Amino acid sequence: MSDPTRPRGPRIIAIANQKGGVGKTTTTINLGAALAQAGMRVLIVDLDPQGNASTGLGIEAEDREFTTYELLLEEIALGDVIQPTSDENLMIIPATVDLSSADIELISNEKRSFLLHDALRQTAMDGYALDYILIDCPPSLNLLTVNAMVAAHSVLVPLQSEFFALEGLSQLMLTIREVRQTANPNLRIEGVVLTMFDARNNLSGQVEKDARENLGDLVFRTLIPRNVRVSEAPSYAVSVLDYDPNSRGAQAYKALAEELMHKQTAVAA
Ligand code: ADP
Ligand code: MG
Repeated sequence: MSDPTRPRGPRIIAIANQKGGVGKTTTTINLGAALAQAGMRVLIVDLDPQGNASTGLGIEAEDREFTTYELLLEEIALGDVIQPTSDENLMIIPATVDLSSADIELISNEKRSFLLHDALRQTAMDGYALDYILIDCPPSLNLLTVNAMVAAHSVLVPLQSEFFALEGLSQLMLTIREVRQTANPNLRIEGVVLTMFDARNNLSGQVEKDARENLGDLVFRTLIPRNVRVSEAPSYAVSVLDYDPNSRGAQAYKALAEELMHKQTAVAA
């Protein structure tokens, strides 16, 4: 897809929410897989020491010799950290628990907020001809998440359709604003996607109503339903699109990918 109005190089999206268990990793894997199936070349960067995106895409622990830790803190060839997945359009830089110490090791580094930014913009990246880079953030607003926001063009926020869903959002928006004021003035909010939506539950509907009233067009039209196939797929080390292409979860992530690809510009924070 060549769009002359779009900047060259991949569109870099940080998938962030400081709350755990809201669907960041699930969205990273399945949105990445859906974009890849639509013909986009996609790199997932696992920036969570839990390494769930790596596991969910079949990268065994013993095959994680070089990870995002080395990408950030050591000189490493991209070819050594970027690993293939079962879909030739989908690649991943895995993570291990080593990354949990990076947050502290980074503090004394004068380029601490820019390490991921610089790593993803090295010229060797051009050889991968990527369309999208999706960064799976840890459940915290720590220096790793700040690195993701500094590296990214936009932030995509998964919001679990449950009580108090909107509560943590102001803290997240504050961090985005801080990053805009300091390191990345062009950072945009790609959008908020409601996850684990249960149409039979009034609460889900209420959360959707609140989110659309408060956030307007920031909220993706596509809702990701709560679907058991989505939660089963990682234990088979594939996306839900490969695990059960006809499931409601797979269909929803395909729709989300379409919506994302056709979205013109993300809004300012
Ligand atoms: P996070 O990365 O934000 O911590 P995860 O993506 O790991 O969250 O999701 C948390 C849990 O919820 C996981 O067990 C995952 O399988 C499950 N889950 C996420 N999205 C769905 C969904 N749409 N339907 C059912 N289960 C889901
Ligand atoms: Mg996660």
